[in-house]
Amino acid sequence: MANEQKLKKIACEVIDGFSPQLKNLSRDIWNHPELCFEEKYAHKRITDFLQVRGFNVERSYKLDTAFRAQPEGRSTGDGPNVAVLCEYDALPEIGHACGHNLIATVGVAASLGIQAALQSPDFQGKGMLTVLGTPAEEGGGGKVDLINSGAFADVDVAMMAHPSQFNLEKPVYLAMTEIKISYHGKASHASSYPWNGINALDAAVLCYTNISHLRQQIKPTWRAHGVITNGGAKPNIIPELAELEYYIRAPTDTELVVLKEKVVGCIEGAATATGCKVTYKFDPKPYSSLMSNDLMASLYVENSLQVGVNPERDPEKMKKAGGSTDMGNVSHVVPSIHPKYYIGTTVSAHSHAFAQQTKTEEAEDYSLAVAKALAMTGIDLLLKPELVQQAKQTFKEALEAELAAA
Ligand SMILES: [Zn+2]
Ligand SMILES: [Zn+2]
Repeated sequence: MANEQKLKKIACEVIDGFSPQLKNLSRDIWNHPELCFEEKYAHKRITDFLQVRGFNVERSYKLDTAFRAQPEGRSTGDGPNVAVLCEYDALPEIGHACGHNLIATVGVAASLGIQAALQSPDFQGKGMLTVLGTPAEEGGGGKVDLINSGAFADVDVAMMAHPSQFNLEKPVYLAMTEIKISYHGKASHASSYPWNGINALDAAVLCYTNISHLRQQIKPTWRAHGVITNGGAKPNIIPELAELEYYIRAPTDTELVVLKEKVVGCIEGAATATGCKVTYKFDPKPYSSLMSNDLMASLYVENSLQVGVNPERDPEKMKKAGGSTDMGNVSHVVPSIHPKYYIGTTVSAHSHAFAQQTKTEEAEDYSLAVAKALAMTGIDLLLKPELVQQAKQTFKEALEAELAAA
């Protein structure tokens, strides 16, 4: 058996061997849902799990609930540093409806597999594995903070996998920014002296309508969706303050810049029309689109076929836009993959039904198969550093193509 196959077999056997503990880990995180930046239980549970299994763990690495772990007894050397990312935050009210308990488990399982391969006498390479615990994917942008604080400075490639109703090696995740808009008018008695007032709610309604009209002139792949979060206090007072919150999204960061400008026109136009003052704030940590690395994605597909994870080939599913993720930001810093994988349900994430599915043994079994495919992909990259160089080249080309398409 070729060396590479031997090491991949070792990784898969280790993941199978730890299967009961890994399933417990997933179930335990599921039972303790924690919101973004508050993932104290998961942080402790995962870092303890890795530490007792031979990892050097840095808890609260750069952020309270982030961590970094590397297999003991290895120096970073001058080989590639392959990062496997874990997420573990939950959603308000519906708990682990995005399945980040499974993401953590996939990351930990893949890392145990890669660790075993690295420690095998058959491994002759020089590379390193880094497990990164990345909090606050659901709106907190934990990975953006980690990027800004240098957590990816020594990382060569990054990977993780996300539960879904599809197996897609290069899913579409949109660039996204949030906008908070406030219209400031003037209060007055709405019946006695309405002409003395300046109606902030009218401005908010116009803003909403302007953006709704804009929708006909934007690309079908772009998104603008919002709510009025404050529409005034009482019908007999001309509202002096009205507020909206919007998310706008596009398939690339450069397209999002164009959409932003158009939306700003809608926001300011509503202020002019009503005589209100307007203030608006864009998210200081916008999410970038996901730029899946072609080379890493094809390695992942080859490996996933070997463990029975069959990629979807329906063009409609392959093009289907998903939400947004801070893994998009990572994918603009180092070559990355963030495949979606099927967990035995056809319902989408962020629903009660999906939350129920993410604690089933069926979903856990799919997750461990995907962990094997990720571990095997990591082994490919560690064994053949020239593949990492190629991945970096395709990464550079993809970044240039994105800028050129502006
Ligand atoms: Zn989510
Ligand atoms: Zn998610």
